[in-house]
Amino acid sequence: MHEASLVRSLLRQVGELLVEHGGESIVTIRVEMGPLSGVERPLVEIAFAEQVDSTPCRGAELKVEEVPLSAICRECGNEFDIERFRFVCPACESTRVRVISGEEFRLLDIEIRQPQTESVSREQP
Ligand SMILES: [Zn+2]
Repeated sequence: MHEASLVRSLLRQVGELLVEHGGESIVTIRVEMGPLSGVERPLVEIAFAEQVDSTPCRGAELKVEEVPLSAICRECGNEFDIERFRFVCPACESTRVRVISGEEFRLLDIEIRQPQTESVSREQP
């Protein structure tokens, strides 16, 4: 199953981040997923539930953000959301469009629980 291996590498990536930041555990893992990612959300959620407890991310909650399918027109530069897989620019009706979002399945961010009450704010250096 495609989703199982994606989830495996996601959990590995998050596990490394946990170690890197010296955290105790992971609270949430937020991913974004587009309609053209080739990934089925329910299968991702099942794979996550099956795998998470055997990784350092044990107990983490998965949050999936669905991103719209959007494109840019190569003729007029218009950016638009694609609905019902109609790859046509609404401004000039060109079909020379390039997808700019909707193909991704990636980690957005994670929430790490720190061992003490030490703050985890991301101050500027
Ligand atoms: Zn156009």
